[in-house]
Order: sequence, then structure tokens, then C-alpha cells
Amino acid sequence: MNRAYFVVGTLLLGGALLAEAQKPPLLPEKDVAALANELSGETAKRNLEAIARFHRQRGSRGFHAAAELVAERLRVYGLSDVAILQFPADGKIFYGTQRSRPAWDAERGNLWELDPVGAACYEAAHKPPTAPDEEGRKQLALLLSEDCDPKLHTHLLASYEAEPVVLAEDSENADVTTELVDVGEGTKESDYTGKGAKGKMVLVSAQPGAVQDLAVGKFGAAGIVSYAQNQKTAWWGEDENLIRWGHLETFSPNKTFAFMVSLKMAGRMRERLTHGEKITLHAVVKAGQHPGGYEVVTATIPGADAKLKGEEIAFSCHLDHQRPGANDNASGCVTILEVARTLEKLISEGEMARPARTMRFIFPQEIEGTIALLNAQPEFSKRIKAVVHMDMVGGGLETKAVFHVTRGPMSLPSFVHDVAWAFAEWVNEESYQFAATGKGDYPMVAPEGGKEPLRAEYSAYTMGSDHDVYQDSSFGIPAIYLNDWPDRYIHTNFDAAANIDPTKLKRAAFIGAASGYYLANLNSAGGVELALAVIHGRSIRLLSFDRPPRQMPNEEAEALRRNEAEYDGGVSYSVDQFSPPPTGFAVPYDRRLNPSL
Ligand SMILES: [Zn+2]
Repeated sequence: MNRAYFVVGTLLLGGALLAEAQKPPLLPEKDVAALANELSGETAKRNLEAIARFHRQRGSRGFHAAAELVAERLRVYGLSDVAILQFPADGKIFYGTQRSRPAWDAERGNLWELDPVGAACYEAAHKPPTAPDEEGRKQLALLLSEDCDPKLHTHLLASYEAEPVVLAEDSENADVTTELVDVGEGTKESDYTGKGAKGKMVLVSAQPGAVQDLAVGKFGAAGIVSYAQNQKTAWWGEDENLIRWGHLETFSPNKTFAFMVSLKMAGRMRERLTHGEKITLHAVVKAGQHPGGYEVVTATIPGADAKLKGEEIAFSCHLDHQRPGANDNASGCVTILEVARTLEKLISEGEMARPARTMRFIFPQEIEGTIALLNAQPEFSKRIKAVVHMDMVGGGLETKAVFHVTRGPMSLPSFVHDVAWAFAEWVNEESYQFAATGKGDYPMVAPEGGKEPLRAEYSAYTMGSDHDVYQDSSFGIPAIYLNDWPDRYIHTNFDAAANIDPTKLKRAAFIGAASGYYLANLNSAGGVELALAVIHGRSIRLLSFDRPPRQMPNEEAEALRRNEAEYDGGVSYSVDQFSPPPTGFAVPYDRRLNPSL
């Protein structure tokens, strides 16, 4: 919209805010009611339970199974243009500046410990007695005795079959029996001094990929056992039973294998090694890289407007990660799937009008899949006007999650975040009202879910998921990012469906669906309500500075003022991108034209 009108409108009509406080923002109440009734946290969670069964590594059979499941649901729900797009990945093809990583699959990964008799038998069998002396006779007798049945003397420590997370991604084939040595973190040369790691497995606290070039490349270790912990939060390292998802470096020349173990298991091993005990491990791995591809599931709800249906509002998630990967990120994918089901149903049954723009749903592998899609099929980035990206949106109380509506980078000013925040803040109020009094028009509570208030936060830009790719200057597409942080189970075997709250899924689905549907229809200046949402967003942004400008040195305050003025100009311009003003009123955004700069 024209910036002058926008500013005047926002100043004159600020008073409307109070009167409208309890009404749903931006959309007609009948649309909000239809969404609130139809969106189901249970349906979303049931889909999550299915996806969480698969170990969804890049290009793997587990990822493919999850992709097929999502595509099948989209077809059953009646979506249009359902497809699984394929982008070859072999370690040589580039998508933009990104070298594709070959697929990785595993069939087997077992780690056993041999007890002292088992270790002695193994030694006797592999270094047969050479002299008929006392020692040689003992060894021979041991080998021939029933005592040497390996089944009696090996104890399973980790099994890919039972818990695929135990085998680090990019592990290669192995069949090794050897001793374990503790090298601490394993990232410095000094960690290996005097440890005799050659031919042994090394126990490390760092990620396998961070140690493999030293441990295997330089010091000749036979393999890696890692007790790396999940991402750092207040709960980091507290739960001794967590097994973290581990990775080797995809392109390292020092191919090897790695097992991930819990802090509890590693602690016991370290204690025994400190007391001079010998630990003998037997590792069998059948796994490896192979040419494959990135798969991206997609579908649409076609738009109704002859001119605007070529433009798209996209819903995005990432479908990959370790099993169970319930919050990260089966939750985001089942929530956009629930948005797809709900909107398709309400639109096809005539409860809601078909939106002007097309709505697209995209289920890729995190970041790599989105980069492949936008580079290999540039028409996607041309059509997509805005994105609603969900990555971790279902964490219940157990996870300690805080729900964020995350703004975009300062380099890409946009009003779309303020749209999402308008809906999120309304859900905050409605859900608090219900929690506090037991009454409320829109509690947005799932029958099998929690009743706690949402308490979403409007947060400054953070990176780390596919929203980065869209908002990167290569594509410049604004992305609403809905995400939980922290989650004390992220990237571990305990990121399980049991921690997922259907109420939270329903609320995230509502905020996403309402924002996406609003943007898919926005084709005029957006009116008072959008102006109010933008002013409100601006005030929250300004309040988030760690101190008011008057307490800053002049130069800093001036820089901030210019920066804010530029950002505000960009926000107005971003509205124009959705709703071109009448001819003659269009002011192309150029910071040099902004008189306040
Ligand atoms: Zn994620």
C-alpha cells in the first residue's frame, strides 16, 4: 500500500484496538470459527505417531517411507497436484552452491561387549598358540572347551534394529573386535597422547564427525563410540539415559563407523577403564553411502483468482531426522498436513471461500531439500510470495518448550510476521482466558490434549531451519517461522510422540492456517486491521531493545533510528508487494527516497 496512506491510517485508527480486543483479528469470525472447529490435534498426532516410526535419514528408505505416507494422506484428503519430486544426490551434483550429499542407508549395526572369557577366547582364536608351553596348552584347552561359545560371553550394548539412533549417520561397513580406549573429548591431538589408539575403538565426548579425521585419519583408530550430548539448554547433560543422534562427516576421506551411547553407559565404561579394566568390543556394521536423491513431497489447494492463482503461499516443514524425531520435526510436518486437510475440506464443502492465491504444501529434507527444490525448479521461488514454516511445534510440558513466532531478518523487512503474531497473540489471550476461568469462546483445546495457555512469544530472528533458505537474499521470500525452543529431548531417542501435546498442534495449526489463508487472499491495502497488526508488531520490536534509545550514546541511537526507519519503510513496501496500490500511487521502495534517512 502507499506508505503515506498506511501511516495516516495507522495513526487515526489506533483507537480501534481496544474495542476489537476480544474479536479474532484479520479474518471474518465465521472463518476463524470454522478453522477452530475443524483443526484436530488428535488427527495431527495420529499422523505424527506414524511418521515417528521411521528413521528418516537423508535419502534413506526410512525417509522414503515417511514421504509416501505424507503423499498418501494428501491424496486421501483431496489435495491437488500431489507429487514426490526427485532431485538426484550423489556427492557430485550441485544445487546452487550446495554440493549434494549421497544418500545413506543402514541394514545392521550392533555393538557387543565381550566379557573377560570371551575376550580371552577371541584372542586365542585369532592368535593361536605358537609354542607347546604351559601358556599355549592353556589357550588351546580354552578354545576347545564349551566355555568358548561366543554367545555366552558377548553382551549387546547397542542395536540399530532396536534403536536406529545408536548408529551414527554416514557410518560404513565394519566387523571389528578390539579394545576401547578413552580419549576424552577426542578433538585435540593431545587427547590421544600415550593412549595407543591405533587399531582400537575410541570413546569420545564430541560428535563422531568432529573427531574422525584425528582419531581414524591421524591416530589409526578402528572406530568411534561417542556420548555426545544434545544441544545445550539448562537441562543439558542432566538426563543420563538420552542417546544423541550422531553424524560422521559425509565427505571425510577417513571413512569409519561410530556408535552413540548414553551418558550412563559411557560413564560406567570410563570408570572401568580408569580402574585399569580392559573393555573389549565387537562391532558389526552394514551401512553406507550410495547415489540417491532428495525427495520433496508437495501438493496444492489451487487459488480461485484468475490473476493471483499463479502466486503461492507455501507451508513448509522438514520431514527428515532420526527416529522418533517427534517434535523435531514430525510435529511441523503433521501440523501443515492438518492445515492442508482442514482447508481443503472447508473450502471444498463451501464453508470457506477458495482463496485468491494458491496454497502449497512442501515436505522436504531440512535445508538441503529446500535448497535443491528452489535451485532446480526456480519457478517455485518466483511463485511463492510468503512461507509459513513449522519446525518443532508440538512440545508438551515435559519438553520445557516455549513456543515462538519468530520474525525475519532485518535485511528482509516484512509484515507477514506481524500477521502471524496477531493470530498467535489472540490465541494467547483466548487460551489464557480459558485456563484461568474455565470459560472462553475459542479455548482451542484438543480433547486429548493439555489445557495450559499457549503463551507464545514474538521473537527476534533466529536461524537453523528452512526459513533461512527462503529468506536468504538468493530468494528473498519472507517466512513466518513457528518453532519451539528449548526442547530437552531434541535430537535424542527420547524425542518421542508421548511428549507431544495435541492442543499445541491444534494451536500451531490454527496460527499457520489463519495466517496463510489471510495472506492468500490479501489483495487490497489490508485496511485498518493490518495497519494495527503492523503497528503492534513494531511496538513489540522496539520494546525488545535492551535499553531505550535515550540511554544510548547519540551515534548509536541515531543508527538505530535510521535502521528502524528503513525497516519500517521496508515493511510498508512488503505490503505493497501483496496489494499493489492504484496506478499513480505506487511508490517503489528505495531507502534513498525516505526523507527521514
Ligand atoms: Zn528441526
